[in-house]
Amino acid sequence: MVNDKRKVVLVGTGMVGMSYAYALLNQNACDELVLIDLNKKRAEGEAMDLNHGLAFSGANMKISSGEYADCKDADIVAICAGVAQRPGETRLALLKRNAKVFSSIVDPVTASGFDGIFLVATNPVDIMTRITYMLSGFNPRKVLGTGTALDTARLRYLLGEYLRVDPRNVHAYVMGEHGDSEFVPWSQAQVATKSILELCAENPEIDQEHLAGIERDVQEAAYKIIEAKNATYYGIGMAMARITRAILGDENSVLTVSAMLRGEYGQTDVFAGVPCIINKSGVQRVLKLSLPQEESDRFGESCRVLRECYEELAGSGQDGC
Ligand code: NAD
Repeated sequence: MVNDKRKVVLVGTGMVGMSYAYALLNQNACDELVLIDLNKKRAEGEAMDLNHGLAFSGANMKISSGEYADCKDADIVAICAGVAQRPGETRLALLKRNAKVFSSIVDPVTASGFDGIFLVATNPVDIMTRITYMLSGFNPRKVLGTGTALDTARLRYLLGEYLRVDPRNVHAYVMGEHGDSEFVPWSQAQVATKSILELCAENPEIDQEHLAGIERDVQEAAYKIIEAKNATYYGIGMAMARITRAILGDENSVLTVSAMLRGEYGQTDVFAGVPCIINKSGVQRVLKLSLPQEESDRFGESCRVLRECYEELAGSGQDGC
């Protein structure tokens, strides 16, 4: 830890950022929280609003709006800032604009002397995390994205409902891109220590088709929520709070974050969602699961999609890529 204050600076006080901040407050997950946004007035208002909840919370947090200089002694800088897609705008054009936004954030954060951990939530999160790594020049273990942490939580919830087991006793991951090419390595999915594929083989009432449907539901969850209420934010805010607690508490917890691969799963030059041990150093290490060939191929395909997306951006002459 940079200091013993458990200090988090949040950049981007929109729906995702403030859901994260609200979760931090309710879980008493840090001692100091600084809010930064391009819209300074909004950040000030959000800090006031949160402070007015302090009397009803068990937390004794110091909450304020601030400046990039406040990052100097922070343990975590969480980035939820971004611009939304304009009508008719291509994915690449949006990505270029968000890369510019990140340049305007990461440069002053590093200039402050910040030496903590970057936690990125802005989409496309695997690409934005790689951009943060490139712009900051940090050790890649200190730059992580939310990756498939939320997708994994959605999977565990849906499996828990189907199998009628507490999701906390369901051990299964979503891996790869936080997006269309993500997948579930079913060979690794377990209830307690019992393989879900074995459960399936032994119990006719557990249908493998239904499991495939759950995987699709996880992939499509964000689209459905956005169709219903324009954006998703509570789940990701909770996922970010969980990752934050793992870092600040030096927990060595396993979470599926977007981490740089350096040979794990045969992949390099890519940030993708993989189970990682998370502690005060960030990604302490990537867990290498023993994936059968078919699942290893699906992971490789997801990494290919991510690599191509990043290279398309870099090829377009975007600084920092
Ligand atoms: P939002 O529009 O509500 O908030 C974005 C905030 O960023 C705004 O307050 C805006 O003022 C600020 N901002 C823009 N440019 C900035 C800059 N240069 N410096 C500082 N602040 C700046 O959006 P949201 O709903 O909160 O979503 C934020 C991001 O999170 C989006 O990219 C969204 O796709 C992503 N998201 C990720 C996940 C995930 O699983 N990783 C889930 C949901 C949403």
